[in-house]
Amino acid sequence: MRAYRAWLKKPAGPNRGFMTNCLFCRIVAGEIPANKVYEDNQLIGFWDIAPKAPVHVLLIPKQHVSSLYHMDDSNQGLIQAMIVAAPVLAKQLGLSDGFRLIANTGEACGQTVHHVHFHILGNFTDSGDTGFPA
Ligand code: 5GP
Ligand code: ZN
Repeated sequence: MRAYRAWLKKPAGPNRGFMTNCLFCRIVAGEIPANKVYEDNQLIGFWDIAPKAPVHVLLIPKQHVSSLYHMDDSNQGLIQAMIVAAPVLAKQLGLSDGFRLIANTGEACGQTVHHVHFHILGNFTDSGDTGFPA
């Protein structure tokens, strides 16, 4: 019980593993379906349910980390994996002209799912709409 209490007090971070009340942890676990476009041992990529561009996928770590603010030195490998995978995935999705990489961090700046994720957006139309305010 004491160990459980200590675990609960931990900031939601790299050592939290699976969070039952986290939407993206549940997608990683296969409890909620997602249209997957990428998977490796640390990450998955899947289509955003409400796309803000013709191509809009989310790249997330399999382990629960709440946001970029919750990453620290122990997550260096994970951060590197995410940054390296993003352009690989963007190319696979046909975004040879370029892509936007967005990580909303904190509710004040638009983060609605508290499991760190990169938005990869591209193939914008001629309207000049780039999915998020620049
Ligand atoms: P945020 O607002 O936290 O930066 O991004 C969360 C994203 O998750 C939003 O773009 C939203 O459309 C997407 N999203 C929310 N619920 C689901 C879901 O159940 N499945 C998928 N694929 N995307 C979701
Ligand atoms: Zn999570």
